[in-house]
Amino acid sequence: MSLTKPYDENNIFAKILRGEAPAHKVYEDEHTFAFMDIMPMAEGHTLVIPREPAVNMFDLSEAAAEAMIRTTRKVAHAVRTTFDPHGVICAQFSGAPAGQTVFHIHFHVIPRWEGVEMNLHARTMQEADILADHASRITGNLA
Ligand code: AMP
Repeated sequence: MSLTKPYDENNIFAKILRGEAPAHKVYEDEHTFAFMDIMPMAEGHTLVIPREPAVNMFDLSEAAAEAMIRTTRKVAHAVRTTFDPHGVICAQFSGAPAGQTVFHIHFHVIPRWEGVEMNLHARTMQEADILADHASRITGNLA
């Protein structure tokens, strides 16, 4: 198994970027897009992706990496304001053995609370109206 893998134009995040699949959008700009994780590990779990078609950290350009971390920081602030967590995980998995399941690079922004277990990764679908409510509240708190 190699960390170098061709980019699949039909991965679900590429479809979201092209508007061919739905997403609960939190934020977008010229280089990045942020939306609710459909199977959240915690309330407020948000994903940040570049528009650039990169599989993982190893084919991502420096410019797209900069744009991604800027948006991740912006989203993390808004998630913090919205949910008042005790901590926030900002994480990226490159390669299936590292936990990557969607092969368009993304950062996870996951709120954490003392004494509250995280849900299992990519396991349980959240209801659409709850995700829509969370997305609009986070968007309302973007600086
Ligand atoms: P990773 O395992 O780091 O590749 O994470 C992929 C994430 O994408 C998981 O947390 C999934 O719950 C999430 N996910 C998969 N499909 C969708 C989708 N259609 N919309 C939003 N999130 C998704």
